[in-house]
Amino acid sequence: MTRPPPRNAPSPDRFSEPPKKSLGQNFLHERGVIDRIVLAIAPRPSDRLVEIGPGQGALTFPLLDRHGALTAIEFDRDLLAPLAAQAAAHGELTLVHANVLDVDLTALAAGAPIRLVGNLPYNLSSPILFHALDHAAVITDMHFMLQKEVVERMAAGPGSKVYGRLSVMLQAWCEVTALFTVGPGAFKPPPKVDSAVVRLRPRAPETIGIDDPVRFSGIVRAAFGQRRKTLRNALGQVCDEATIRAAGIDPQLRAEQLAVADFVRLANQPPAA
Ligand code: SAM
Repeated sequence: MTRPPPRNAPSPDRFSEPPKKSLGQNFLHERGVIDRIVLAIAPRPSDRLVEIGPGQGALTFPLLDRHGALTAIEFDRDLLAPLAAQAAAHGELTLVHANVLDVDLTALAAGAPIRLVGNLPYNLSSPILFHALDHAAVITDMHFMLQKEVVERMAAGPGSKVYGRLSVMLQAWCEVTALFTVGPGAFKPPPKVDSAVVRLRPRAPETIGIDDPVRFSGIVRAAFGQRRKTLRNALGQVCDEATIRAAGIDPQLRAEQLAVADFVRLANQPPAA
C-alpha cells in the first residue's frame, strides 16, 4: 500500500525552496514591470526565445502565454521540476539545466537566430554579457534586467564618468538602449540596488569594422585600466605614440574622451614602423 505524502512535504510542482542569494535569486513579482518587459520584447510568431535564469517563471510564463514556446537555461536544480510542471499550463517550455556560461549559444541556436531575455543574476552580469557577445552572430537581440548602475555604464558615452571598458566593448558590437528603471520593491526579496531593463541589438558584422577583436579588446582594456592617465602612458605596453598619432588621435587625451569609433580606428592601425 502506498502511503500519502506527509502533509507538509514539498510537492514537485510547487516552488518550496527559499531564494538562494548565491545564485542572485531576486524574483520579480510586480505585474506592471513584468508586462512592460514582455511588451518591450514584443515576440513575433517566428521568434525563438531563450531565457537565462527563469527562476520561478515570472517572465517565463507570461512569455509562454504570449508566444507559446521558449527555451530556458536554469542553473538551480531545485527550480526545474516546479518550472516544468507549472509551464505545462502556459506553453511548451524546453528547460536546459546548466550554468549559462557553459552553454554554447551558437550550438543551441542550431542555425536559426535567437532572442535572449532574462532577469540576470547580478553577480554574473558582466560574464554573461561577454559570453553573449561571443555568440552575437546568432543573436537577434537581448533584453536584460540588470543593476541600474551596470546599465548606465553599458549605455554611457564619452565624457561620462561611467563611460568605460564595458561601454566601449558592448557598443562596438551592439546598439545599446536603456529602456526603464525598476525599484527594489518589484522583487522578492528586494535587492539592495535599483535595477534597469536594457536592450542590446548586435550590429551587422560588416558595420562593426574591427579587424582584430583580440587587439581591440587589449587596447580598450589597457586604455581604461588606468583611466586617469593619458593614452600615451596608459597604452605604453600595447601601442606606441606614433601609432596613436597615425590613427588621428592626440596621445595626450584620456580613454574616457575617445568615442567607440576612435578605439576601432586605433586598434585597426598597423603598428608604426
Ligand atoms: N527570471 C526570474 C525572475 O525574473 O523572477 C528569476 C531571476 S533571478 C534574478 C536570476 C535567476 O538566474 C535565478 O533563477 C537563478 O537561479 C538563475 N541563475 C543564477 N546563476 C545562473 C547561471 N550561472 N546560469 C543559469 N542560471 C543562473
